[in-house]
Amino acid sequence: MTDHPDVPAVRTFWQGLGLPGLFDVHVHFLPPNIQRAVYAVFDAAGPKIGREWPIRYREDHAERVEILRAMGVRRFPTLPYAHKPGVATYLNDWAAGFARDVPESLWSATFFPEQAAAAYVAAAVGAGVEVFKVHLQVGEFHLDDPLLDEVWGTLEDSGTPVVVHAGSGPVGNDFTGPASTERLLERFPRLTLLIAHMGAPECAEFLALAERHERVHLDTTMVFTDFFPAYPDSLVPRLRDLGDKVLLGSDFPTIPYPYVHQLDGLARLDLGDDWLRAVCWSNGLRLFGPGPTTPVG
Ligand SMILES: [Zn+2]
Repeated sequence: MTDHPDVPAVRTFWQGLGLPGLFDVHVHFLPPNIQRAVYAVFDAAGPKIGREWPIRYREDHAERVEILRAMGVRRFPTLPYAHKPGVATYLNDWAAGFARDVPESLWSATFFPEQAAAAYVAAAVGAGVEVFKVHLQVGEFHLDDPLLDEVWGTLEDSGTPVVVHAGSGPVGNDFTGPASTERLLERFPRLTLLIAHMGAPECAEFLALAERHERVHLDTTMVFTDFFPAYPDSLVPRLRDLGDKVLLGSDFPTIPYPYVHQLDGLARLDLGDDWLRAVCWSNGLRLFGPGPTTPVG
């Protein structure tokens, strides 16, 4: 058990709601060499980051797993993402090993628009991968890239959730924004998508997609924190109506504030304890199912 100073406030939050813990759909664990490279990008506040971003949780993997366990984050993915062709299978092999070692983690994988993608995604789905992640800003591709046609067909049929960073935050480029997600859903309307960061800053467009498409969800990652632009007040009542399709995400470990700050931001919306319980626990459980060690309640 870790004595990390951020633990008690997080436990107080979910205990106060009568939950058995938290279900966080947006956590990253990457191979150590890649993780170091990502930290370096954030430390340099490079062009894809755009501002100072002091990462709070820089411990090694084992310690970070212990911090999540101590905080009561009962289930979480590892969400690898590829920045160029040819690296997805390396990331996916590493993520498979992590999923074997950490039983409560969601087995995660990624893909990139490349010839091999159709085959490795089909194999991953067949093997039991539970969630995929793609990052349009980092990968610089459109969701409806023709090289992904077969991949989306596979994922629409399997129903495997895909966490998509498609919004133009923190720094947009030609590939970000809702357009390619809208085009994709016209062709594959049954895809199970989790829109990372609620699509910020294009919050209204991505909320509308979630309202229109039965299997499009929003993850709360970094939204409602001091670090993100304010979420439009006018959209908040629609988040209540969308209740069962909003899921807690944190971006642990690459966040510049204590974990509980994300939770406090959700509570400040004043959408009620039932909404918080759904967002922080039961919506994730319904989408992904309990893990082997998930407490029920
Ligand atoms: Zn992330």
